[in-house]
Amino acid sequence: MAGLTTDWALAWVRGSAAVVGEHRAELSALDREIGDGDHGENLDRGFKAVLAKLDAAPPSTPGGVLKLVATTLISTVGGASGPLLGTAYLKAAGAVGDATELDSAAVVALLTAARDGVVLRGKAAPGDKTMIDAWTPAVDAAAAAAEAGEEPAAVLAAAADAAEQGAVATEPLVAHKGRASYLGERAIGHRDPGAQSSALQLRAAAEAAA
Ligand code: ADP
Ligand code: MG
Repeated sequence: MAGLTTDWALAWVRGSAAVVGEHRAELSALDREIGDGDHGENLDRGFKAVLAKLDAAPPSTPGGVLKLVATTLISTVGGASGPLLGTAYLKAAGAVGDATELDSAAVVALLTAARDGVVLRGKAAPGDKTMIDAWTPAVDAAAAAAEAGEEPAAVLAAAADAAEQGAVATEPLVAHKGRASYLGERAIGHRDPGAQSSALQLRAAAEAAA
């Protein structure tokens, strides 16, 4: 079994930090359309802080890595997305516990807990034009891939594909949560920035496992 180790978790986080940095301006531009234009800067600040902490004291389990991401994002990102994503990573850390290697079922548990964490914190439903619209199809696709006997890397690739499609599918929606909900129908035609950044993070998870 090609289980995912701490090195995978570290590569995932470094990949997320890199891709958020590369797409910082694009994420803030999306947020300028239907929010206040800070999403890319918010997340970039958070992931840069995560990198600094990883370098100072690298955790020894995947769960330890996820927990460090969680606490750092909660304390540095701000906005709506900091506590939401922080809760996602915190619940994901709880789901994998002290395991040193994650099989496909553990990957599904990790993603499911992350999504459930965002819902617990933000109370958004699918179709509300939030990051949930990336996470929920990702969880469903991951569960189907694991059910079909796929390895963790393929489970994550399926999740990333579904998250990207989910982010695109937020474009025609009216928002029912967050700042974008103040816009009513004017939010139509714009992609949700949090769904887009979630898809980037899930692609980084898949690439780290490939
Ligand atoms: P803020 O809206 O405070 O400026 P950000 O710009 O960093 O925070 O993040 C905005 C993103 O947060 C949105 O694109 C959306 O995906 C997500 N979001 C906002 N409210 C919720 C919620 N209640 N549940 C899930 N996601 C949410
Ligand atoms: Mg914003």
